[in-house]
Amino acid sequence: MALVPMRVLLDHAAENGYGLGAFNVNNMEQIQAIMAAAEETQSPVIIQASRGARQYTNDAYLRHLMLAAVELHPNIPVVMHLDHGNSVATCKSAIEQGFTSVMMDGSLMEDGKTLADFEYNVKVTKEVVEMAHAVGASVEGELGALGGIEDGHGADVDPRAHLTDPDQAVEFVERTGVDALAVAIGTSHGAYKFSRKPDEDILAIHLVEEINKRLPGVHLVMHGSSSLPQELRDEINKYGGALKPSYGVPVEAIQRGIRSGVRKVNVDSDNRLAMTGAIRKVFTEKPEEFDPRKYLGPARDAMEVVVKERMIAFGQAGHAAEVPVVTLAEMKARYASA
Ligand SMILES: [Zn+2]
Repeated sequence: MALVPMRVLLDHAAENGYGLGAFNVNNMEQIQAIMAAAEETQSPVIIQASRGARQYTNDAYLRHLMLAAVELHPNIPVVMHLDHGNSVATCKSAIEQGFTSVMMDGSLMEDGKTLADFEYNVKVTKEVVEMAHAVGASVEGELGALGGIEDGHGADVDPRAHLTDPDQAVEFVERTGVDALAVAIGTSHGAYKFSRKPDEDILAIHLVEEINKRLPGVHLVMHGSSSLPQELRDEINKYGGALKPSYGVPVEAIQRGIRSGVRKVNVDSDNRLAMTGAIRKVFTEKPEEFDPRKYLGPARDAMEVVVKERMIAFGQAGHAAEVPVVTLAEMKARYASA
């Protein structure tokens, strides 16, 4: 199976009431970990790369690694998605490089830091929708602003200060025609999200429910949705790490979101934590080791465990064979006739 447009997976997830993890990658081991977990659980899967990842890997390496993933796993529908595109040009080059889906994050200006106004966001997102739909690729937009800065991307804001406004969300979707909408509900990117166990005061899942009521047909996206499990943090610190305490988004909160229209759940930090813990363990227990396979292999295994757990928790497990095969060309025709 070739890479598929994200819209196909989101539509299937909506029809069947499940969510899809969207896992970030920067190298071969991470792609292998996700594909192994998808194969084991028979899950359709979204693999995403940020601008930082594209710079780190070089698009050509990334493209060929993704092609290897679909070649080796012909029965798994795979989406290659650009995470936090900062401009029309970035989204365009991603599609030219084989991405079947892009995020245009017009909640921030092109520098990826400065908060943008609503009209700017509508304008750039609509432009990307027109460009992407003309070739059948899918588009995710974002309204509101998340906390946390990762890969140099993100505004240094209090995540509670820029939550998504449900009225604006309706207008945004109508005017842009996005396939999916990322909502700001108090989460942040990175390994430090909440300073206490999150409740409704700091993690506004009710907002997802409110937006879903007004936009029942729209696929919602939760960013910054790592759970930051204590055992993964402990493993790093046990082997010489220095992570400070923090709380992530509980899996149960994500499941509540999925019951209210969340179809894509971005998870990156949990995988980073798992890999780092595994590598630290090898370095501590076997300081004589110097073969990269002896620590990157266990890191890959540790990430596979986390991805598999999330795939089961989000409900995508077991659905790989049911997702209809729809090509970019077919999606292009659908958009053109809509
Ligand atoms: Zn994000």
